[in-house]
Amino acid sequence: MTDCVFCKIVAGQIPSTRVYEDDDVLAFMDIGHVNPGHVLIAVKRHAENLYALEEAQAAAIARASVRVARAIQTAFAPAGLSVYQANGKPAGQTVFHYHVHLVPRHEADGMQLTWPVKNPPREKLQEYAARIVERLPRAQG
Ligand code: 5GP
Ligand code: ZN
Repeated sequence: MTDCVFCKIVAGQIPSTRVYEDDDVLAFMDIGHVNPGHVLIAVKRHAENLYALEEAQAAAIARASVRVARAIQTAFAPAGLSVYQANGKPAGQTVFHYHVHLVPRHEADGMQLTWPVKNPPREKLQEYAARIVERLPRAQG
């Protein structure tokens, strides 16, 4: 993707402050930086969002998230850590190249995500669940 800012970061065409990489992912400091230690973990091969990920990329993101999160935890000792990942504009995605945020958190640090809870009846939950389950691949193993 020639016009993608994260593809350019992966290729080294624009500078970034790198913290970790393997064959499938690159982790680097978020230039916006909500709190000290805020890291982005991006796939190296362009995928726009979660739906476009290959399973090997998903596994690499999870592995890198655990490793980098532990390093953030020992380096900054934050009171908490938010893992944030947006797909699509309404969800808050601004860079359309798959990435996960690791955001160290502190009491009253101003980061907010409002959950407008609806508490539907159980029958509704069962109906929603059935729509998902019938579209899932069968577990392999
Ligand atoms: P999103 O809203 O898509 O989840 O987050 C995109 C993130 O990418 C933002 O937090 C923003 O600060 C970060 N970002 C955008 N452009 C650059 C860049 O050129 N370099 C770095 N290091 N981060 C960027
Ligand atoms: Zn890209």
